[in-house]
Amino acid sequence: MPTERVRPSVTEDAKLTDFEPGADDQEVEPADDRTPSETGLQAPTAAYAWGDYECDRCDSPTERVWHDEGAFVCPACKRW
Ligand SMILES: [Zn+2]
Repeated sequence: MPTERVRPSVTEDAKLTDFEPGADDQEVEPADDRTPSETGLQAPTAAYAWGDYECDRCDSPTERVWHDEGAFVCPACKRW
């Protein structure tokens, strides 16, 4: 009795390729269903940290840093 192997259909794999990431024709803009008053989110321009830090601008050790435009800076380097 010959052994018959049932091979999975290749059509399933072919379907997967249709979902390849990189097709940028489906960019979805964020739904504009938020109101600023509801989110209450603001850029953390005055984020404050306390600890053993080093200023990203003057490289001085400091116990207090401010988060300024992606960098932690000492109070002397913080731009107000
Ligand atoms: Zn500094």
